[in-house]
Amino acid sequence: MARAHRIPPPSDFGIQPSRSHQGDNWQDGLITAMSDTTQVYQSDELTVTLIDMFPKARYHYLVVPKEDINSVEELSRDKIALLEHIHQVAADFISRVHQKEPALKFRFGYHAVPSMRRLHLHIISQDFDSPRLYKQHHWNIFNTEYFIESQIVIDTLRDAGSIEIEKDKYESLLGLRMKCNRCGKKYNDIRGLKDHLVQEHGNSWNYSASAARRQSRC
Ligand code: AMP
Repeated sequence: MARAHRIPPPSDFGIQPSRSHQGDNWQDGLITAMSDTTQVYQSDELTVTLIDMFPKARYHYLVVPKEDINSVEELSRDKIALLEHIHQVAADFISRVHQKEPALKFRFGYHAVPSMRRLHLHIISQDFDSPRLYKQHHWNIFNTEYFIESQIVIDTLRDAGSIEIEKDKYESLLGLRMKCNRCGKKYNDIRGLKDHLVQEHGNSWNYSASAARRQSRC
């Protein structure tokens, strides 16, 4: 059974990739991280919850199944129970954060075209207050239909029995103008959007592409 849960800490923006996460097999980094105690927040019989190494918000975690499933396209109806379990892990996580930050908004779901192997559900707070977020696609992968809510994946699987991803359609979303998730204002460049988040919505991290690039490859 799951061990006792502690309230999740916010993302540590200073975290450095360990050597085991670098090199040629970076797309398997989540699988490696599942057995790295510095990267694991919690685990249970079916899942491991990882601290995202390049957090794009104050709280950014990944729920990864222990079962070897690569992506949503590999799912079939017999995996609905597993997906519901992953969904519940995320909901419980958010409840624990809400004990200390009740007003913080969260979403949890899957990227249509993930960059990393092994199915993973993102739990991400909606502040997007992070120096790791410094590119247009960093915004659009979480703020367009590219981000597919957990419940939609479960419902689609229940209705259709499988999930087909039209890669081109989803990838075309990455070039869209960025829309503020709080007020809907649109931006062509990430610097403008980041300034807006600082000035209008109280974010603390300003645009710092060079600093962010030094720290992160994602
Ligand atoms: P995606 O495949 O686009 O759904 O997202 C992969 C996520 O994994 C991103 O949020 C990255 O910041 C994160 N990430 C990449 N490498 C690692 C790693 N070795 N350990 C933990 N998180 C990682």
